[in-house]
Amino acid sequence: MARPLRRIALLGATGSIGRSALDVIARHPERFEVAALTAHGRVTELLALCQQFRPALAVIGDPASLPALASGLRERGLKTTALAGPEALDLAAADAGSDTVVAAIVGAAGVSSTLAAARAGKRLLLANKESIVLAGQVLMREAAAHGAEILPIDSEHNAIFQCLPADGHRRGIRRLILTASGGPFRGRARASLHAVTPDEACTHPNWVMGRKISVDSATLMNKGLEVIEAHHLFGLPGERIDVVVHPQSTIHSLVDYIDGSMLAQLGNPDMRTALAYGLGWPERIDSGVVPLDLVAQARFDFEEPDREAFPCLDLAYAALAAGGSAPASLNAANETAVAAFLAGELPFLGIADVIRATLSESSTEPGDDLEVLLACDGRARQTAREWIRRMQG
Ligand code: NAD
Ligand code: MG
Repeated sequence: MARPLRRIALLGATGSIGRSALDVIARHPERFEVAALTAHGRVTELLALCQQFRPALAVIGDPASLPALASGLRERGLKTTALAGPEALDLAAADAGSDTVVAAIVGAAGVSSTLAAARAGKRLLLANKESIVLAGQVLMREAAAHGAEILPIDSEHNAIFQCLPADGHRRGIRRLILTASGGPFRGRARASLHAVTPDEACTHPNWVMGRKISVDSATLMNKGLEVIEAHHLFGLPGERIDVVVHPQSTIHSLVDYIDGSMLAQLGNPDMRTALAYGLGWPERIDSGVVPLDLVAQARFDFEEPDREAFPCLDLAYAALAAGGSAPASLNAANETAVAAFLAGELPFLGIADVIRATLSESSTEPGDDLEVLLACDGRARQTAREWIRRMQG
């Protein structure tokens, strides 16, 4: 019997994850069809992708760019429908034309479309970690209620997913161990980080990624967000989710079982492995990733994270322990502070200061109501902006 085509809606098609997903998809025209593509503002790039992948639907986040998208599609003789704005993103996520949604928008901007995909019962390939940090309880509840399958794309969570029993049981796990590269400033003392620039922070030793997640990797907030993400995906408390620095980034994470077995997933640092796993699941498909050469690799080093130089990690653990809306406030403060750092308005070390100050001023509300969480997100952004202004003055 012929294998049915999987029809993919790719949210955030012009980003780093989006490009990697399309690279894998293009290798398997007999398996995948692109149903929808979305981008925020890069119309020319989106048009080129529409020409190549011929989706039924193209969505541009910024409504001002809709006329350019629509006329560009017409000029190319494409039948793709053009839409714009946040509601159109939700529509692309929930549209009956797809069965699989790749959530690859960056930041809380992706929460609504990620939830729309869960509520529509899609197979959800989750890269957009901010949405599960902001609204993890809601996302897991809605996915369960509507039969959506969540396949983690974040490389650490994808690794853990691969190391868990195939029957989905979580028995016998002592703890999860997330590996961290340590980022571009690994080994540096806190005092040496005052004047680092956005470009230095975005020069990651092992991965090529969007600028926001690159800064998160440099502060270790990325690992903090991933601890919260792992808590929701795998149902373990923060005390049973550890972080170890592994500078080679070839062991993508581990599961420590009570019988003394430790299972790990290894590979070259290339997101196409996790994306191919999610796209092909439960089958394995070619990703284009070069196989890991163990002899050339030779070493696997491990060290403790430097919690003094990189306090964002413990801020995230504290937010997870506080529960409720605290992770939503943490994420919102982080997004605001990182944007200010990238704009040259806040020093690198100010990122953690802004988050700490914002959290100490935020009340903790229940974590099971999206409206409440979005209100907390909005207030935390405002508080963070006030702190950034104060620090400038
Ligand atoms: P990126 O900045 O390269 O791409 C982001 C994409 O989202 C772009 O297509 C952009 O057009 C779209 N977008 C941005 N703002 C938007 C908005 N307001 N509305 C609608 N669309 C918007 O980011 P990335 O590195 O590809 O990361 C995407 C997500 O995947 C993030 O949540 C990140 O944490 C996660 N992730 C990325 C990597 C990686 O290797 N890049 C690894 C693990 C997880
Ligand atoms: Mg990761």
